[in-house]
Amino acid sequence: MSGKIIIVNRFAFCFDHGNELCHLCDEDFRFDNNNSAGIARALARKLGNEFEAENGFDLQERQPINIYTYGVKPHTHHRGPQASGSCTEHSKLDCQKCYDWIRLISAEATGDGIDAVRARVIRSG
Ligand SMILES: [Zn+2]
Ligand SMILES: [Zn+2]
Repeated sequence: MSGKIIIVNRFAFCFDHGNELCHLCDEDFRFDNNNSAGIARALARKLGNEFEAENGFDLQERQPINIYTYGVKPHTHHRGPQASGSCTEHSKLDCQKCYDWIRLISAEATGDGIDAVRARVIRSG
């Protein structure tokens, strides 16, 4: 493991595996990602203040996302341990459409179809 991270639309993932929660790197970015992207506030606006209680959902224990399952193209920088990423569909850095974390997480919270499932892949090798 390189200790490098990739940041896409304000969410961080380990660079080597693309995991938000990585057992190989011993990292869990969910808490920081929720905070830096203002997920709790956004979900409260979208689903109501009691969205956790109402849906039996725990934001801090949500399903971790694997960024590489979204077809991200990493851009590494010579200096520093951070990479950024663009989507393959629009070649757009931090694409709001492809990396709409609020939509994805709210789908998980409410158990809403395919979006809830897409995020569940963890790479372990
Ligand atoms: Zn990792
Ligand atoms: Zn896109």
